[in-house]
Amino acid sequence: MSSAADQALIERARALIESLPDDENHTVAAVALDTAGRHFDGVNLYHFTGGLCAEPVVLAVAAAQQAAPLEVVVAVGNRGRGVLAPCGRCRQILFDYHPDIQVLVPHGPQIRRVGIRELLPYTYNWHAQTDREHGEASRQAE
Ligand SMILES: [Zn+2]
Repeated sequence: MSSAADQALIERARALIESLPDDENHTVAAVALDTAGRHFDGVNLYHFTGGLCAEPVVLAVAAAQQAAPLEVVVAVGNRGRGVLAPCGRCRQILFDYHPDIQVLVPHGPQIRRVGIRELLPYTYNWHAQTDREHGEASRQAE
C-alpha cells in the first residue's frame, strides 16, 4: 500500500513525462527522494547504441546535486502507462549505489513500496566483490 507521499512522487514523475514531447527519445520519468527530503528528477535517454533507463539517470542527477542517501525511487511511463518496475539491470544499479533504497512498483491494481533487496534476491554484490579483490572488509552487510 502506498502513502500520500508515495502518490505525490508518482504524480511528480507522471507530470514530468507527460510534459515532454511525445516521441521515442524520452518515454519514462523517474523521481527519487533522498533522506533529507529533496527530490531529483530524470528521464530515460533512448539511443540505438543502448540508451539509459530513467533510474540510472536520476541517480546521476542526485549525485551531481550531492544528494543524501536515496530513500525511494519511482519510474512512470508515458502515455498513461503508470508506474513501471525497474528492469533487471536497473535493480542491480540501484542496489549497488543505494542498497537501502525502496522502489515503488505495481502490484496488480495497487502500488507497493519494496526494498531493492526484495526486488533482487541472491544478488551479485559488486562492492563486496571489489573489496574482496582489494583485501578489504566488505563495505556492506549481506
Ligand atoms: Zn532499467
